[in-house]
Amino acid sequence: MSLLTVGSVAFDALETPFGKTDKIIGGAATYITLSASYFTKDNNLVAVVGDDFPQSMIDTLVSHGVNVDGLEIRKGEKTFFWSGKYHDDMNTRDTVEVQLNVMEHFDPIIPDQYQDCQYLMLGNTAPAIQHMVVKRMKNRPKLIVLDTMNLWIEIANADLKALLRDVDVLVLNDEEARQLTGDYALVRAAATIKAMGPKTVIIKKGEHGALLFHEDRIFAAPALPLEEVFDPTGAGDTFAGGFIGHLAKTDDISFDNMKRAVIYGSAMASFCVEKFGAERILNLSKEEIQNRVNEFVKLSAFSVEM
Ligand code: AMP
Repeated sequence: MSLLTVGSVAFDALETPFGKTDKIIGGAATYITLSASYFTKDNNLVAVVGDDFPQSMIDTLVSHGVNVDGLEIRKGEKTFFWSGKYHDDMNTRDTVEVQLNVMEHFDPIIPDQYQDCQYLMLGNTAPAIQHMVVKRMKNRPKLIVLDTMNLWIEIANADLKALLRDVDVLVLNDEEARQLTGDYALVRAAATIKAMGPKTVIIKKGEHGALLFHEDRIFAAPALPLEEVFDPTGAGDTFAGGFIGHLAKTDDISFDNMKRAVIYGSAMASFCVEKFGAERILNLSKEEIQNRVNEFVKLSAFSVEM
């Protein structure tokens, strides 16, 4: 089934306890579409960049099967820039700088050939823009998944709440779930979010895995204990890309299949953190991904004797 992703395509500058990068390619939609490319061939992007964005990276997306008809390149303008610095725990980070540039006037145009997409991934960007995308789809997709961040919870809370009424799944991290609901207990926070609209809530807990709340059921997925975590940037988006990519591939949105999708998302995210930026998710084989998924199965398999 076809997938449409909207979100940032960006330049990032990153600093972790292990090193620093100059401008590298980043952006939520970049990570999402690359990650999803390992699952679905019908992988469509709506985003905006300036004419400083390298053609070689667009070619990389295309070589992964991403349809870039909806990638607007604005002449004379600069690509969105974000820079972040991680704390020693690698789970928390500070935004050092944001230059909105082209994102300031992002007016997402959905090409006609994307209108029938069944799976819609609203990657990180302003909630008002994400909502515009939902409203511009002539037919409502079968599943709408939303990712957001602390910034929007803080500065665009009303827009975000309006959008939540129109989405099926919200993916966010534990800190954001607490910020959005004012509740420390994640089970209660998830219930509060479900009352805001989405039937399904996924709360990511970094190196501690993820919780999937679907109607009155809960699934706990581990994160793979890794010897080296180099750079968590994009892990959340890579998770989202694996999650929705698996659902689009199988066209099954049952709870059981969402559990598998959470594991595929977690496996993809575990690759992403092994190198800076998107480097590690550029050249994965199907076999590597399946082996990683098998590690997740082994990691949490146990039997009980009564
Ligand atoms: P993640 O680590 O999964 O939260 O995603 C990191 C990516 O989000 C980076 O590549 C950034 O370019 C992108 N990003 C950071 N802040 C924003 C923002 N305000 N709007 C859109 N994308 C952003």
